[in-house]
Amino acid sequence: MICNEKMYALGAKRSVIRELFEYGKMRKALVGEENVFDFSLGNPSVPPPHEVKEALLRLLSTESEIALHGYTSAQGDKGTRDVIAKHYEEAFSFRLDPELMYMTCGAAASLTITLNAIVKDPADEVVTFAPFFPEYRVFTEKAGAKLVVCPPAAGLEIDVAAFRSLLNEHTRAVIINSPNNPSGVVYPEEQVKAVAAALRDAEKKFGTTIYLISDEPYRALVFDGKQATCFPKYYDDTVVCYSYSKSLSLPGERIGYIAVSPLAAEKTELYLAVCGAGRALGYVCAPALFQRLVKECDGLTADVNVYLQNRDLLYGSLSEMGFTCAYPSGAFYLFVKAPSGDASEFSEAAKQLDILVVPSDSFGCEGYVRIAYCVSTDLIRRSLPAFRTLAAKYFG
Ligand code: PLP
Repeated sequence: MICNEKMYALGAKRSVIRELFEYGKMRKALVGEENVFDFSLGNPSVPPPHEVKEALLRLLSTESEIALHGYTSAQGDKGTRDVIAKHYEEAFSFRLDPELMYMTCGAAASLTITLNAIVKDPADEVVTFAPFFPEYRVFTEKAGAKLVVCPPAAGLEIDVAAFRSLLNEHTRAVIINSPNNPSGVVYPEEQVKAVAAALRDAEKKFGTTIYLISDEPYRALVFDGKQATCFPKYYDDTVVCYSYSKSLSLPGERIGYIAVSPLAAEKTELYLAVCGAGRALGYVCAPALFQRLVKECDGLTADVNVYLQNRDLLYGSLSEMGFTCAYPSGAFYLFVKAPSGDASEFSEAAKQLDILVVPSDSFGCEGYVRIAYCVSTDLIRRSLPAFRTLAAKYFG
């Protein structure tokens, strides 16, 4: 093959999630939109807060078109970075430095840029916690490192002892994601503290620096009175990778940021490596209009009550039917145990009833399916009889 074979393989084989989503479109055309219960994709179902449209209209009608659509500096508009740092401090009493922030095209870009800025040797390892967002493997391997997966403890929380045993002289970074996709689990504070302590011990033992990459697209989607975690408070060598895709319901607009903690080792060098990786990957100057929009709307959140209502309805109903699910205190996903232990079999059985749920193998955790409940509450209600038929197949 003349082109790059690894890239060809990634392009030729769609992710399981995309595969199901495409199947859903085909099936809807065949049997009618209302008869397919598509829980495959994490596409927000709640509109952006009304301030988003108002700010866009204001920007479009009052700002110079040349300035509005022109390049910003490579790392993003300084005014926008100032506003983000101000709001972050108000929310968490922790001061991010706008001079260590880099505007990006969403969390995917934040992660790839950060990984490329950190990884430097083919022996480098990046640890993450199962279950995890499948693209971590793609991003890590493309950056030139090996992804090491830490299996979960009960309740899909962090197995700290297992995590400690995976850290070695090759560990360059750890990716953490809380609230978690696919489980919806919010890691408790004592586990965050234990992860930070394990990292500090490993840095001392191996004489290395290990960066904690906190992937935070769901930071604003936390329920049950729980607080989102401010990871830089717990561990100095932290890089925050944020996205407005879910908090402002703007996934198609591709906007987010990277913030290197002002307490991180070699923070200036790391930040310049972030700028360099952004440059090398072609990720300079994130979408200008949406950088301005973020300046106006950072800190606002789409109506998460809809997700909360969906969570309660689905978690309650499925538990009552006999299914076992990890309790999701955030994001908009439910991770359900396959009654037979076989995720693909369970996903296929659901598919026969036009319920589309993603088997968990690609999330690094066998024997579950992921339900993305960022759909209308009405769709969930209408899907319950089909779930009941599914439950009868396993529980009689
Ligand atoms: N990280 C996680 C855990 C996600 O669930 C997603 C998207 O669903 C991303 C990163 C990528 O987010 P974005 O669309 O902002 O690039």
